[in-house]
Amino acid sequence: TAINWDAFATELGDIETIRDPIQVAKLSKDYYYFSPILKTALDDKTGDLVVRPKTEAEVLQVARACVANRVPLTVRGAGTGNYGQAIPLEGGVILDLTAMNAVKWVKPGLACVEPGARLAAIDRITRPQGWEIRMAPSTYRTATIGGFIAGGSGGIGSVRYGQLRDRGNLHALRVVTLEDEPRVIELRGDAVQQVNHAYGTNGIITELEIPLGAAYPWAEVIVTFEDFMTASRFGQRLGSSDGIISKLISVHAWPIPSYFAALQTALPAEQSAVLLIVSESCLEPLGELVKEFGGTITAEKGAADSKGSALGEFTWNHTTLHARNVDPSLTYLQTLFPYDPELKLLEEMYHHFGNEVMMHLEFLRVQGNIVPAGLQLVRFSTPERLDEIIRYHEDRGAFIANPHTCILEDGGRKRVDRGQLAFKAKVDPYGLMNPGKMRGWMEGSE
Ligand code: FAD
Repeated sequence: TAINWDAFATELGDIETIRDPIQVAKLSKDYYYFSPILKTALDDKTGDLVVRPKTEAEVLQVARACVANRVPLTVRGAGTGNYGQAIPLEGGVILDLTAMNAVKWVKPGLACVEPGARLAAIDRITRPQGWEIRMAPSTYRTATIGGFIAGGSGGIGSVRYGQLRDRGNLHALRVVTLEDEPRVIELRGDAVQQVNHAYGTNGIITELEIPLGAAYPWAEVIVTFEDFMTASRFGQRLGSSDGIISKLISVHAWPIPSYFAALQTALPAEQSAVLLIVSESCLEPLGELVKEFGGTITAEKGAADSKGSALGEFTWNHTTLHARNVDPSLTYLQTLFPYDPELKLLEEMYHHFGNEVMMHLEFLRVQGNIVPAGLQLVRFSTPERLDEIIRYHEDRGAFIANPHTCILEDGGRKRVDRGQLAFKAKVDPYGLMNPGKMRGWMEGSE
């Protein structure tokens, strides 16, 4: 049955709603178009109504209205996700949480925040006390903490603290349900994994307790190398240099550095570049390591001059963004290479694909080991060829988190998370939350 959206909005009383079709269409989209596959699949998808609550009580009221009218609900933070996570496949309500953005308290090493708080805004409050969020996507300035937890994986800081899924990187959540009588559930400890990285398919996160790391005086450095594999080995060694405090180790094979217009003076032609954020106090030992690997420091900014994330905005998926600004036909992959200090599989892939798959690596800590994650840039030809490239990696033991699907499991570990599915059955019995995104649920209800 068709919903009368004007009547629905009236039911919501004083809660802010947006009905203007242009605004609604805009707030229904994210960065899905980085993938030519998702672009085709999701271009025409849009919600019917945007609702912007300011309190948890208002969220509960929206949840009640959605359940009563059996209306789909898709939660939205800043809409910077790049797999179409926040795009409603079946219309309905877009629940924009950016107005719920308070930092409720900060203790040594821990903060309690509302989901719409932007990551950079959280740091502005915690840094004067010596703390900062442990890891952030390169969309740090705009992305919300709720969206990062529900839709992201890790980023700048992951070389030290691992990924969001690692135990200890998320302490507690408050979640609003879409049951007949919506309520708030508190999750602590391992129970948070039921909702962590579930694309908002099984509860509306209304509050989070997140751990903090020490806010060092971060310096930004660019180091260049004659060849890509030396740059990668340098990155691997820096990541496992326990005495040097690193926050970002981002390696780019030529010609990727040529896409970074604003950094050109520090990026000589034909050279591979390593973009680094390290504690300013570690610049001297870093210099020794650079010398050992025959690299050249072409730019260095102390903590007072670096704006926190300036260099970061060329790394992680911002690399893809800059490359696509130059050549919109480029797309990307997300690869986790197995732990191997000799980087053999990486070297094989680098030589095998040549310029069709340009190497961009972000080093991260995985269960105590430093490994390169690839966000390689791909010269897209056909969907079949893209599948072939993915399969070639998988067959040789490189794990691919496919960024060309908006389905949770297909983009992640390819298996249904029983805990998340069971939690969905409990809190979203009518399957109203972000429908079409959780494969386990769709298969169960077929
Ligand atoms: P949104 O895109 O609004 O939402 C993401 C998902 O979370 C959606 O499924 C949404 O329904 C759900 N959601 C949002 N809020 C809630 C809530 N309160 N309760 C329940 N569900 C919710 N990601 C990384 O992990 N690392 C990176 O380094 C990184 N770099 C990027 C660079 C670029 C250029 C771009 C375009 C994207 C990048 N991303 C990265 C993806 C994305 O920016 C981040 O994951 C970001 O943290 C998402 O936050 P958001 O507020 O924009 O979330």
